[in-house]
Amino acid sequence: MVKQLYINGEWRNAQSGHTFDVINPADESVIATVAAAQPEDVSAAVAAARQAFDEGPWPQLSGAERAHYLRGIANVIRQRLPEIARLEVADNGKPLPEAEWDIEDTAGTFDFYADLAEAMDQAEEEVVELPDDRFTSRVEKEPVGVVGAIIPWNFPMLMASWKVAPALAAGCTVVLKPSEVTPLTALILAEIADEVQLPAGVLNVITGTGPEAGAPLSDHPDVDKLAFTGSVATGSAVMQAAAKNIKAVSLELGGKSPFIIFDDASVDAAVEWILFGIFWNQGEVCSATSRVLVHENLYERLLARLLEETAKITIGPGLEPGVLLGPLVNRTQYEKVLAAIGRGVEEGATLLCGGKRPAAFAKGYYLEPTIFADVDESSWIWKEEIFGPVVCIKSFFDEAEAVRLANDSRFGLAAAVMSNDKARCQRVSRRLRAGIVWVNCSQPTFTQAPWGGFKQSGIGRELGRWGLESYREVKQITEYVSDEPWGWYLKP
Ligand code: NAD
Repeated sequence: MVKQLYINGEWRNAQSGHTFDVINPADESVIATVAAAQPEDVSAAVAAARQAFDEGPWPQLSGAERAHYLRGIANVIRQRLPEIARLEVADNGKPLPEAEWDIEDTAGTFDFYADLAEAMDQAEEEVVELPDDRFTSRVEKEPVGVVGAIIPWNFPMLMASWKVAPALAAGCTVVLKPSEVTPLTALILAEIADEVQLPAGVLNVITGTGPEAGAPLSDHPDVDKLAFTGSVATGSAVMQAAAKNIKAVSLELGGKSPFIIFDDASVDAAVEWILFGIFWNQGEVCSATSRVLVHENLYERLLARLLEETAKITIGPGLEPGVLLGPLVNRTQYEKVLAAIGRGVEEGATLLCGGKRPAAFAKGYYLEPTIFADVDESSWIWKEEIFGPVVCIKSFFDEAEAVRLANDSRFGLAAAVMSNDKARCQRVSRRLRAGIVWVNCSQPTFTQAPWGGFKQSGIGRELGRWGLESYREVKQITEYVSDEPWGWYLKP
């Protein structure tokens, strides 16, 4: 049975009848057939969101009323967690414990923004001090309007929640387009919205490809804001589309995040966080610390220990117990990562381990965890995002060189530093040009803290209160309160 689009509170086929298949990356089987939205379906979804915003109750509800729906969504996600997590594994390939973590986090994101929605009702009126006492002025915040949310395939349901939860909390209505590679849990989110009786048109989910559904959504004149997570190239296309009719736009893009390890760091701790920083979620993580800089005094010892631990990583289908590295998400990504590895070898980096399909698997997009050492700073693999389980390692001789190498990138999403010297960690954190800096760890992400990048890693911040603000417009309301006539044209 074809999985349908969710538009205006109804399940519909694409008007053209077009569909596409969803593939399980662990065994390459077809697990679902999904409606392929075309521009006319996108228009229908935007019209529904527009009407729900302009004429429906949603933006006028109190924060507490909206919070009630968000909590309802969080509760149903938790009730269905085992089923949703397994579906995420089948769709994306990630190991089950990671999927369970993601889905719990997804529920937590809806709860977090429910709290912020409630707090909006209590917020004190913001008065603007004016230099002229004939006027008073205050600031109000209003929902930005209809949001077009376009997301990638690496954390399918979690990425949906990072946009949908704050947008709904703010009073916006949403058209969500999941990645065509992993559309299934976004459809579950639509089912849940339906179950908690979210008013029709407040959340619409359209599955489809980038060119057929994503581009028309970015181009649509009735969308007020585009919230995009994905690659730099697509982010640039989305921003250009937004420029045509001056839509608000927030972009969460790629990265090539550095991890600096000083020679006073514990080797075991460094190895643990290097592994977590690049092999968790198969390295398909925008903030993955894929460039590791190790002080030359520690370099050989650390590499030896890293190799020893990497060899112990269990590779396999995400549903198998004990698996720490699942298959990559699809054939395209698999071939891209293999090509990047080939390029690294050609460029003369030392391939310490991995780089190929594990012998145990004839099918599925499995790849051994891959470590390149002695990587040249001018090489392609050092500079470009690979988005797979591939780490590039290089030595450095002092703090200034480490910071220079870390910042020498067009990206600036995340960075990490490890040392026992607190003052040094603080100094280096300040100098790293990135939106997220981890000290003595890599990757832990909290809904409460701002998320987003400097440079080509994006524009704007998600999560925390910053995530909510990006779905709100600031309005000044200025009143003339003097009894005296203004007297410019009509002279007293
Ligand atoms: P992608 O850019 O190929 O696709 C992202 C989304 O954009 C998909 O839904 C796709 O269908 C859609 N799309 C494609 N072409 C479009 C177009 N012309 N107009 C509008 N939408 C279009 O990215 P991906 O391969 O799905 O994801 C991997 C990338 O995402 C990596 O570069 C990664 O770093 C980045 N990412 C960033 C973050 C972050 O928070 N910064 C998080 C996850 C992933």
